[in-house]
Amino acid sequence: MVQSMRILRAAHLGMCFGVRDAIALALEHADAGPLTILGDLVHNPTVLSALEAKGISVARGPADVRTPTVMVTAHGTSERTLARTRALGLTVIEATCPLVQVAHRAVVALAREGYHVVIVGQRDHVEVRGLTGDLDRFDVVLEDDDVLALEEHPRLGVAAQTTQPVEKVQRLVALIRRRFPHSDVRVMDTVCKPTKQRQSAAVELARQADVVIVVGGQSSNNTRELVSTCARYCDRVHHVQTDADVQPEWFETAEVVGLTAGTSTPDDVIDRVEIRIRSCATMSACVEE
Ligand code: SF4
Repeated sequence: MVQSMRILRAAHLGMCFGVRDAIALALEHADAGPLTILGDLVHNPTVLSALEAKGISVARGPADVRTPTVMVTAHGTSERTLARTRALGLTVIEATCPLVQVAHRAVVALAREGYHVVIVGQRDHVEVRGLTGDLDRFDVVLEDDDVLALEEHPRLGVAAQTTQPVEKVQRLVALIRRRFPHSDVRVMDTVCKPTKQRQSAAVELARQADVVIVVGGQSSNNTRELVSTCARYCDRVHHVQTDADVQPEWFETAEVVGLTAGTSTPDDVIDRVEIRIRSCATMSACVEE
């Protein structure tokens, strides 16, 4: 008997407006003249190859830039880095996502009001380096142990990397409050709306699916967070970068396959993964017949 399999797409998935606008800005400027991007514009190999094909260079730091114009990614950067870059005589184009700018303003406000800033996020992530780059003192926490290692401050101001799971931020904030009951703990909700929508849609999806496929770059933080969120509700979760990674045996006995994708994944990559899942289902059914 041929197995029937349904593919469910998450209600919110794939590329967010911040990444889409940053790519459009890079392509527009690449048409006007040579352009270098500071770091990865997005953590997605398919998009990065497309930018490379347009002649866009990538540099790890301002000192490595060989073109007159340089672009800051959607992840943003600090005022100090911007000043250092401009001091080299480079023209800077900022593709910083407006929602990352909201997080920057939140951090500035906390610091200005005398709060010791604590960021929930990955210490080495480019966005976190941008958020903390203008602060002389701050802490970054990602796990409970990081909170246990914090020192006491009379005022603690917490903000999050925009792509962190809301539940994790809330858990760590609760832990900070318990650990420092005498401190004034102020929290700024800086997780962006597209991230929240993708996370809640992923939970809905994983609850209904036998298998979940998450599409996105291996180094994309929000994609990896989607994988761990889905894994809490579904035992069979696979992270793929492209359709070539999808394996037919994943779909044996599966009736419902959920499909979601990180905020840097282009629509055509998701579409190709869906086509591949359909063809794998056919192969799997043929094997079972
Ligand atoms: S994930 Fe959120 S903050 Fe980051 S670029 Fe997309 S919309 Fe902006």
